[in-house]
Amino acid sequence: MARQFVAIGECMVEFAPTLDGTYAVGFAGDTFNTAWYVRQLTERDKLGVTYVSAVGDDDLSRRLTCFVESAGITPAFATIESASPGVYMIFLNNGERSFQYWRSQSAARRLADDLGALEAAAAGDMVYFSGITLAILDETARRRLLSALTDAAGRGAEIVFDPNLRSRLWQSAEDMCAWTTRAASVAAIVLPSFEDEAVHFKDCGPEDTAKRYLECGVRLVVVKNGEGQLVVRSADGDGFQFQPVPVPEVVDTTAAGDSFNAAFLVDYLERGRAREAVRAGCALAAHVIGSRGALVPVSQLDLIACR
Ligand code: ADP
Repeated sequence: MARQFVAIGECMVEFAPTLDGTYAVGFAGDTFNTAWYVRQLTERDKLGVTYVSAVGDDDLSRRLTCFVESAGITPAFATIESASPGVYMIFLNNGERSFQYWRSQSAARRLADDLGALEAAAAGDMVYFSGITLAILDETARRRLLSALTDAAGRGAEIVFDPNLRSRLWQSAEDMCAWTTRAASVAAIVLPSFEDEAVHFKDCGPEDTAKRYLECGVRLVVVKNGEGQLVVRSADGDGFQFQPVPVPEVVDTTAAGDSFNAAFLVDYLERGRAREAVRAGCALAAHVIGSRGALVPVSQLDLIACR
């Protein structure tokens, strides 16, 4: 049987401006972006990709589900009566992008309502979630999610967590930091971004970030750092640093971290070697930031570069 990669979170409907002044409808969201890139990098008979979330019963939800299926990803979606997906709109002002969100009532906030369904859906070889997945849930649902993930780990799943710290989604920064630490303690692999961690945890350097997550009982920490050196540390004392190749023209850094995570995890699942996996992650992220948008198609040639 093919191995299974499972991502849990919220995929939103995106309205992005086009050159002729109209808006194009798309679909994106941090954990979904990672699942989408995992699908792009792998063959369906070798790795199944499932996305766990919740949608409503409206047309927008049906379009979202169709998009997920047509991307080759299995939707494990709870259906919430009278609910709708979260939506965001991108505004362009003199080349600068800004975002407005309508997600406070989104169906995805209810993805952990049914513990049984969540446990069944989270049965993968690798199960991936983020700080945004946690942030959109209420406290009871957060506890339910972490309990389902602890059980999945007990059944042999590798739990992967990207803290993706977004303070505006939380009641307070203290709350965010406390839940982030709790979530890391159920994970085997944590993939933080230093810039966010420095702001909220007051880490002085990526080494501090790695050390803090290792202290939660994590086996492997990969600290992304924009164009700077990544720091990789494992619980057995191994570690290294890696300098990404500079990208000559950065067009749009949306999904840099999400795509890095996808290529890193695909390679790590296959070969189990962090050095090669980090190189693959950096290659895909470099490709993604060279184009506009969260979901940048990956050609056969790009694929070779990411291996
Ligand atoms: P996030 O998108 O989560 O904030 P980062 O900004 O740390 O994550 O970037 C994730 C990865 O994207 C980095 O580890 C690196 O591989 C790549 N990356 C980001 N910015 C650049 C850049 N200017 N040049 C080269 N690689 C970059």
